[in-house]
Amino acid sequence: MTDFAATRAMFDLPEGVIYLDGNSLGPLPRAVATRVGRAITDEWGQMVITGWNRAGWMDLPARVGDRVGRLIGAPAGSVIMGDTLSIKVYQALASALELRADRRVILSDTGNFPSDLYMADGLCRTLGPDYRLKTVPPEVVESAIDDTIAVLMITEVDYRTGRKHDMARLIAKAHEHGALVVWDLAHSAGAIPVDVAGADTDFAVGCSYKYLNSGPGGPAFIYVAPRLVGKVQPALSGWLGHEAPFAFDLEYRPGPGIERMRVGTPPILQLVALDAALDVWDGVDMNDLRARSLELQQIFIDRVAAGAPELRLASPVDGHARGSQVSFHHEDGYAIIQALIAEGVIGDFRAPDILRFGFTPLYLTPQDVTKAADTLCAIIQHRRWDQPEFKTRSKVT
Ligand SMILES: *Cc1c(COP(=O)(O)O)cnc(C)c1O
Repeated sequence: MTDFAATRAMFDLPEGVIYLDGNSLGPLPRAVATRVGRAITDEWGQMVITGWNRAGWMDLPARVGDRVGRLIGAPAGSVIMGDTLSIKVYQALASALELRADRRVILSDTGNFPSDLYMADGLCRTLGPDYRLKTVPPEVVESAIDDTIAVLMITEVDYRTGRKHDMARLIAKAHEHGALVVWDLAHSAGAIPVDVAGADTDFAVGCSYKYLNSGPGGPAFIYVAPRLVGKVQPALSGWLGHEAPFAFDLEYRPGPGIERMRVGTPPILQLVALDAALDVWDGVDMNDLRARSLELQQIFIDRVAAGAPELRLASPVDGHARGSQVSFHHEDGYAIIQALIAEGVIGDFRAPDILRFGFTPLYLTPQDVTKAADTLCAIIQHRRWDQPEFKTRSKVT
């Protein structure tokens, strides 16, 4: 059994705060500050440029990629870290389209995170007028897969509602029709059990600053199925994805395996932060995590239903159809979230009317969740959100 009291003790959580936003930015694991501090003073400070070799900086994207890989069912050598998720989406999509060069349509759904859709749209414009991004409602994705689709690009867990797609089923259907698949695991990696190899996905991408707690701006990951990676011609052909970066050849040759999905200089300090943050996962069984997450979500849903029935559940009622978050609709959602934050419970708001709460068993207990739900209910019962100070929108919601 996973010891969640032990994992909680590994976090440096802000005093007096119940943090239900680890789905958006994970909190700080205690080990990170020391490890990053050491990387700054002992490595950057003392080794300066020799740190690339002596401190192993150059191998960090692959070494840390393997650690992330273990959390998503990817074999060693199939995941690499770097860049932001939007960039990794673009890379995966461009490669998948090139591998299916006789087709022109990317299929996605309207529940996808807009950045993924924007990147796909931008790529289509670069490739030419016959390329097209087709988006359909999430419920009809499966039936929209046909022999015209080049690539199915789906985010497994909807960032707004928490609704979870049946990944293995959609992959099987896409492959039946000769399409390739790109899975975005932004709200899956570290949130639910994922098995990219078992589900036979072609490409998968995700970020590390949400459930993997690498800190703001932490690098993204990309997985390419080992059976495909040798055929991938990277669209973002930067020097560190070259077969021999320090040969400084004038022509690009893709590097071995997943190394070719690197682009430029990796963010070493953020990779060190992620490496330290991943220690928290060493004793964690993903099935235990899932069971505990569902338990926490249910406590919250039941208490909110009893104490604030005007909050309408936006997430699936069936826990197995959700990721690790719960959302509600309310037209004054923004003000309610601000009032909640003022009382020490951090969730977030997503336009137009979604109140969003992430459940992260590594550091949340049933007591935390009960208290958070009770605070939310009290704010609604007493209309404590109905104050001008809670209605001014900040840049980041
Ligand atoms: C969080 C998230 C992103 C963010 O992309 P960045 O480039 O890291 O800012 C993209 N896609 C999805 C599905 C996300 O949930």
